[in-house]
Amino acid sequence: MTAPLMPTYARAPLSFERGEGCWITATDGRKFLDFGAGIAVSALGHAHPQLVAALEAQARRLWHVSNLYRIPEQEALAERLTEATFADKVFFTNSGTESVEMAIKMARKYWSAQGQPQRHRIVTFDGAFHGRSTGAIAAAGSEKMCAGFEPLMPGFDTVPWGDHEALQAAIGPETAAILIEPIQGEGGIRPLPPQCLRGLRALCDQHGILLMLDEIQSGMGRTGHLFAHEIAGATPDVMMVAKGIGGGFPLGAVLATDAAAAPMTPGTHGTTYGGNPLACAVGLAVMDIVADPEFLAGVGRRGRHLGQRLSALKAEHPAIAEIRGEGMMMGLRLAEGLSPVKLVEAARDVELLVVPAADNVVRLLPPLIVSEDEISEGVARLDTALRSVA
Ligand code: PLP
Repeated sequence: MTAPLMPTYARAPLSFERGEGCWITATDGRKFLDFGAGIAVSALGHAHPQLVAALEAQARRLWHVSNLYRIPEQEALAERLTEATFADKVFFTNSGTESVEMAIKMARKYWSAQGQPQRHRIVTFDGAFHGRSTGAIAAAGSEKMCAGFEPLMPGFDTVPWGDHEALQAAIGPETAAILIEPIQGEGGIRPLPPQCLRGLRALCDQHGILLMLDEIQSGMGRTGHLFAHEIAGATPDVMMVAKGIGGGFPLGAVLATDAAAAPMTPGTHGTTYGGNPLACAVGLAVMDIVADPEFLAGVGRRGRHLGQRLSALKAEHPAIAEIRGEGMMMGLRLAEGLSPVKLVEAARDVELLVVPAADNVVRLLPPLIVSEDEISEGVARLDTALRSVA
């Protein structure tokens, strides 16, 4: 049935026809508890009434306008984002990869505009994932993503995660920026300790380098904070956002300080769809809910509950080597020899959706609206799945 599709995905033999909240119904009638949320996308679950209303109302008014004109919904969303963050300026995209591509361009432009085009190199980290464009695969540098796509875009210096000496050594007169995820997502839910993020900020200040945070997976409330870097109390110069910001509608953004955004003058960058009225109407509805401090406090509270339940599960299952993450972005690192894909399949057999990641990890990324009862149900299903693979 998937024959005309390019075989770039090893798809599960499963398709869905509708969803509500944290639940999603397959075409065969089975009802799944969705702890993957489209890989951290459906932040407010499925068919959230406020998002549906915003999309329907905008769909009746106006779908699309070129960025040749002012777009009030886009300006309103940019204002909401700048009010809520370190940023002064926003550019809207359709995806995470596009946000990363723009950030790479911004790092280069920032220095070339100051007469220092030789400062074009970007320091990145092992295990990173920034998307699948030629720039984004070169930035992450993993053999798996890059093989066969050489020659890679030059200008990236990838250092081992957590290796301070290698990081110091990678910084030189050509370094323009450091690009990092505050919590590696695809890399296996590897959080950067808050003191390390503060250290990176200090290092960037010391060398005049831009700090660019990829919060595509960790942002928009997922950690119980609007953005994960808030935990460390250190702010970036440039931040990439996508996934949760559209709650399932394709939308991304690059947020930046005035200084980092200054060289992005007319003609330096553009997009046909990015920030169109339909996407921004949904983005505004998402922000209305997610940026509310009470909502975020609730995510944090239920996230801690999820963490406690997972720790209790670990005590019963030697198959779990480690629990890590923050809020609703949790990873179970499995003991050596056990396969995350097998556990994901076993979870699917008991109608629970979870997502594999690198470093032998299974990710739990439930919608931020998940209730304590649904957390208990999800953990109980995970318990069953773990027993079946043990
Ligand atoms: N950066 C991070 C941290 C991601 O998790 C992803 C997607 O998983 C991307 C970038 C790429 O985003 P997209 O798939 O929307 O292009």
